[in-house]
Amino acid sequence: MTETVGFIGLGQMGSRMAARLVGSDHALSVFDLDRSAVDKLTASGAISQTSPKVIGDTCEIVLCSLPRPEVVEQVLLGEGGLSDGRAVKIIVDLSTTGSTVSERVGAALAAKGIALVDAPVSGGVGAAESGSLTLMIAGAPEARSQVAPVLARLGTNLFVIGDEPGLGQKMKLINNMLCAANAVTTFEALVAGVKGGLDAETMLDVINVSSGRSFISTDKVPQCVLPRTFPPRFATELLLKDMKLGVDEALANEAPLWMMTSALQFISEAITETDPAADYASLIRYFERRAGIEFAPAKDRKDDD
Ligand code: NAD
Repeated sequence: MTETVGFIGLGQMGSRMAARLVGSDHALSVFDLDRSAVDKLTASGAISQTSPKVIGDTCEIVLCSLPRPEVVEQVLLGEGGLSDGRAVKIIVDLSTTGSTVSERVGAALAAKGIALVDAPVSGGVGAAESGSLTLMIAGAPEARSQVAPVLARLGTNLFVIGDEPGLGQKMKLINNMLCAANAVTTFEALVAGVKGGLDAETMLDVINVSSGRSFISTDKVPQCVLPRTFPPRFATELLLKDMKLGVDEALANEAPLWMMTSALQFISEAITETDPAADYASLIRYFERRAGIEFAPAKDRKDDD
């Protein structure tokens, strides 16, 4: 174990994962372009650094949780990036980037003597906060074993997908295509139900002990849609990014797709009517607007006249 672990990207997921590493058996150095995100972590004991390179100069193990593949490439391999640091030996990428980028970044880092552990996560901000994430881990066995104590603080479901970076991403994209398709079909069905005269809460009670349930019906809708709060947890634009990556990879492998391409088409259209940075729970509003009815308990509903 190194004395100081680094963490880059302190957004919805990164801030919560980094918080779990503060006060463990090593110091934590952090970097994010957003100063307020850094301040929250330093207030609880993390050390603020001025750039990815400075993190790489001072930490052997660095984790990152960044929004998009091109940002990961830039932060890790760009001019003055993390991999230019003198100390860094293992980079754990917790972001969702797709396997093509992960393989390319892994090869470029290997040429510089740095191991990439590809470890995308699932479970959302609640699981990130409680350390109960699912991690889909791929990378060289020695690098994996060196980062295992750190990853054990982040998740309870740690799956080794393989020895090559990129395999974790393949697994993650399959999961997120299902999550996105479940969201779209669940939102569509729930709005059809209230439009047909069913009570919103009763519908969830029934579905969540029946065969139509999923994370969307057990967690997303009760926590974010039913109370009409739509808290920012997972941006619609990031779910759309995952869906595009998943569909592109599947089609490149000549896998037959019907439902995933429809869900992708729907999200691409619906996002034009919402704030792309809003949580993807807000996609239900697309159906609600067309139905002229909200998915809410009857007493709280604001329906069109
Ligand atoms: P986010 O947009 O909330 O956070 C990204 C953070 O990266 C921000 O704080 C931003 O300031 C920072 N950042 C952007 N560019 C940077 C740069 N060049 N240098 C340093 N910092 C930079 O995103 P998130 O929801 O936390 O997601 C992070 C990753 O995890 C994404 O790849 C996402 O797809 C994936 N993911 C998200 C969730 C979720 O529920 N939110 C769940 C699983 C996986």
